[in-house]
Amino acid sequence: MPVLPANIMMECTMDYDSIAKAGSMLGSGAVIVMDETRCMVKSLLRLSYFYMHESCGQCTPCREGTGWLWRMMDRIEHGKGRPEDIDLLNSVADNIQGRTICALGDAAAMPVRAFIKHYREEFVHHIEHKTCMVPSYI
Ligand code: SF4
Repeated sequence: MPVLPANIMMECTMDYDSIAKAGSMLGSGAVIVMDETRCMVKSLLRLSYFYMHESCGQCTPCREGTGWLWRMMDRIEHGKGRPEDIDLLNSVADNIQGRTICALGDAAAMPVRAFIKHYREEFVHHIEHKTCMVPSYI
């Protein structure tokens, strides 16, 4: 599901309608909370690995797209990202979402756009400085 920053979450009432209005979904009702020490680039790297691993490979956009999302996130995380990678991530997500036969494709694509929308500065910092901008992150 799309990630939401704390200032938006604090305005929600933790019900399906409220979360949907804020731009995400509650799905099965599970919630992951990440505090300010969590690197959002590494978080998306981990998430993209999960979806690449879970893709059954039946649809080309999901099979190829989840692999490319992970490869791009891996290079950004490890200091080899390029400035154009941020827009490319969005483009790959756009080419997965709504083009697959099951919901896993959408589930892989939606977080990418939300991570970049709300935490773009962390991605830019990783690319420009080849390291994490969260000081306490180890
Ligand atoms: S969207 Fe679903 S059916 Fe298509 S490749 Fe991904 S996991 Fe398989």
